[in-house]
This record gives sequence, C-alpha cells and structure tokens, in this order.
Amino acid sequence: GLADVGVTGLAVMGRNLARNIARHGHAVAVHNRTASRVDELVAEHGDEGDFRPSHSLEDFVASLAKPRRVIIMVKAGKATDAVIDELVPLLEEGDIVVDAGNAHYEDTRRREHDLRERGLHFVGTGVSGGEEGALEGPSIMPGGSRESYEALGPILEDIAVDVDGTPCCTYVGPDGAGHFVKMVHNGIEYADMQLIAEAYDLLRQGLDLSPAQLADVFDEWNEGDLESFLVEITARVLRHEDASTGKPFVDVVVDQAEQKGTGRWTVQSALDLGVPVTGIAEAVFARALSGAAGQRKAVLDRGLAGPSGGRLEGADAEGFVDAVRQALYASKVVAYAQGFDQITAASQEYGWDIDRGMMATIWRGGCIIRARFLDRIKQAYDKDQHLASLLLDDYFAEAVADAQDAWRRVVATAVRLGVPAPGFSSALAYYDGLRRDRLPAALVQGLRDLFGAHTYRRVDAEGTYHVLWSEDGSEERQDTQDQ
Ligand code: NDP
Repeated sequence: GLADVGVTGLAVMGRNLARNIARHGHAVAVHNRTASRVDELVAEHGDEGDFRPSHSLEDFVASLAKPRRVIIMVKAGKATDAVIDELVPLLEEGDIVVDAGNAHYEDTRRREHDLRERGLHFVGTGVSGGEEGALEGPSIMPGGSRESYEALGPILEDIAVDVDGTPCCTYVGPDGAGHFVKMVHNGIEYADMQLIAEAYDLLRQGLDLSPAQLADVFDEWNEGDLESFLVEITARVLRHEDASTGKPFVDVVVDQAEQKGTGRWTVQSALDLGVPVTGIAEAVFARALSGAAGQRKAVLDRGLAGPSGGRLEGADAEGFVDAVRQALYASKVVAYAQGFDQITAASQEYGWDIDRGMMATIWRGGCIIRARFLDRIKQAYDKDQHLASLLLDDYFAEAVADAQDAWRRVVATAVRLGVPAPGFSSALAYYDGLRRDRLPAALVQGLRDLFGAHTYRRVDAEGTYHVLWSEDGSEERQDTQDQ
C-alpha cells in the first residue's frame, strides 16, 4: 500500500519526526535532498516502523496515499521555498503541504495564499521541543485550513506529547496562526529565562550565595507555584561543576547570550501590532547588551560610577530569598499576560479566532516553557473566553496582590545595589501603568498638540481639539460635528 504521510528533510528534526511517526504505526515516506541521509535513517532505525525510502521527490510523492500529506522539515527561509517550488508541480488538488520548520508567520501567510490558489492546502506548523521532542513527543501548533486539519490532525495528535491524557496539539487557526503562536511561545521563553537570570543575579550579588546554594533555592522553588521545566534545569545548570577546573560551570561560561531570532521577531511583530510586550523586549535587549563585548570592555576599562553599597545585611537580607521568588512569580505573570495579549491582537488583526486557553493547554508538554502555571492560564480562559488581561483573572490578580510588596522591595533593592533587573522592573512599571486612573500620556498629547498640531481629545466632551498655541490660546474643535 501507499504511505500515510511523508517527511522530506531528514536532518536531526525531520529524521526524529519521521521515526516518531513510524513508531506510532504509520507508514512514513522519507526523502532528503542528499540521498545518503535517507539510507542512513533506514539503516539505523528501519526496524522501528514502516519507512518508505525515496531518492527522488517524484518517487517520494508517488509513494503517498491521497490526499497526500507531505511534511517539509528543512532549513527555514529560502530552502523551504525551494522545496515547495519543486514539490508543487508533482501534487494534485486537495493535497496537504506541511511546513514544520521555524518559519516566520508572514512567510507562512504568503505560502498559504500561493498554494491555496493552486488548490493545495498549506499548513504552517510550530513544532516545539527540539530534537528530543521531535522523537519522543513535541508540542505541535498547526495553522491552515480546518479541512486540512481533519486529514492531518489525527496523525499530529498521535505523535504529540500527552499531558493528563490530552495531546499537546490542536488546530490553531488559518494561515500563519500556528507559526505566530510558536513565535510568541519562543518570545515568552526569552522573557522567562531573563527573569530567572535576574533572580539568580540578585540573590548571588545581594546575599553572596554560591551557585550550589542557589541550585538548592531553585529546587525548592520548583516545588511550588514556579514549578516548571526552566526552573528545574536552572537548578541543574547552577549545580553543575566544570570538569576541567572544578569551578561552578556558570562561572566558566562567557556571559554573552546569543539568539537565533524568534525573540526579535516577536518584538518586531509586537511593535507593529502596538502591544507592549515589555518582558520579551527587555529580554531581547538584555541579550543584546550582554553581547556588546567591545562596549562592555571599554566601559569596564574606564569604569562608570555605581552605588557604594555591596551586600545586603541584617533586616535587608531577611526574607530576601522569598521576596525574589515572589518578584519572579509576579513578573512572570506579567510576561505571560503580555504574550497572550499579543496573540489576542494578532488573532483580531488577521481574523484567526485563536482559542487562548487551548494554547496554554498545548504548551503544557514538549515546550521549553512547560509549567504548572499554564494550567492556571487555561483555567482563566476557560472561566472567561474574553478575558481582557490575564491580570484580571481572580487567581492571578490575587497572586500579584500577594506578591506586590515583595516585588517592589526587590526592584528597589536592585536599583539600590546597582544590579540590573530590567525584566523585574519593567514588569512592575507595566503593572503600575495598567493600574493607573490617569496617565501622564495626557501631557504627551498636550506636547504633541503644541509642537505638531496633532490634536487631542477631551475628558468631558466628544471630538478632537487643538489649541491655537501661537495665537490667543483658545481651543478649536477639529473634527466636523456630524462625523
Ligand atoms: P537544518 O535547519 O539544519 O536544515 C537541514 C535540512 O534542510 C537538511 O535536510 C537539508 O538537506 C535541508 N535543506 C537545506 N537547504 C535545502 C534546499 N535548498 N533544498 C532542499 N533541502 C534543503 O535542520 P534541522 O533538522 O536542525 O531543522 C529543520 C527545521 O526545524 C528548521 O526549520 C529549524 O528551524 C527547525 N528546528 C526546530 C527546532 C525546534 O525545537 N522546533 C529545533 C531545531 C530546528 P541536505 O541534507 O541535502 O543538506
């Protein structure tokens, strides 16, 4: 018989995905531009299931049952377009092309549009969990037509990881929705890691705790509300000793964080959508600052003034570990609230109708940001589909209320010690901004009206207005009354 599904692109991700599919009892056609990868896969893992190897794209397509389901797992960008261009002439109406690479959602929108015009389904899907996830069970975020999900969903749900009997895979929404959600997931991952790093830094600088002592702190935190994969592996990394020097591993690693780009994409999109994702943005910028090696060295050589106080002592030190835990939790609530706001905004902008509670559900496994916390987010959206901000959910509002004294103390302490905590402090500034009855944006509007006649609205009347600043200071209504 013919294969149920095909995978083209057999580097580490595609190879593991194909094995995962085969292990679940589906006949899987496999293909790769360089044919040796196909033979290697079959030689090494052919006994794991029903693999159908092909050395040409023509044979590969011919080996698939209709409607054909083709998963592309190649290098994102030009390679994906090259494979699509080669593939499309070989396909027939109703066939389904899946891009499981890390595509930008705008590319996915373009590709979906092009293939739809040719009668083909194009499914851009986020796949999270790295190479291990691809093999053992990733979190899968497919976009595209609902119809394509009917044909594809069962296989994807089969190979996705399960949490409490629920597969971490669901239909996300049309065209770029799947890749968009995967992108925001990665952005949140940046924010989460930045907040963890700030907590570590503050405790190490403020209390002079060793990495090994801090590993114990993170282990303890992992027993409570902060329970998550990232907190768990933070303890592992902090406990690790460098084999060659015996020093704490974290002290022999160059302190310049790199990035592959999805965090940057998230912030770029947020700027376009006008959504303040300060947590993700600060995380991207903090990595950029860490990587500005020349500048940092020049500053270090010259020396720039900082506060004189070093460690925390007495009452200042008392309860500081737990205060940092609370600050981390509150800041994390803000970062996730902002990420979900970005999904909400894009869903409205592009007409995707994304179910936010389901996104929290499918991130509970496979993903780097998997956490107990996501159950709370799911519950919040289950209670209220139209929740305007996660911060308004009773559980989160109360959690942040409980944490806020500690949060303010930690941010004030960071400022006093001169320890940079952009994640903690911007999250608090965002929270305080959102809470305010009147914001100084009124003054900004006044300034804009004076220098640029940009107009303003009044608190007590409809319409837009302008002050004749260079004349007698009188006010003019700018819009026509019947508008
Ligand atoms: P790579 O990103 O390293 O890509 C290598 C694969 O792409 C090979 O199969 C290669 O074929 C193929 N390829 C490259 N250029 C072309 C081309 N012009 N035409 C045809 N095939 C081409 O592989 P990975 O397995 O690391 O990643 C695959 C995808 O998954 C990427 O989009 C990546 O971003 C994403 N990814 C996702 C991760 C996750 O956690 N979700 C983790 C890692 C990657 P050949 O063997 O002939 O060179």
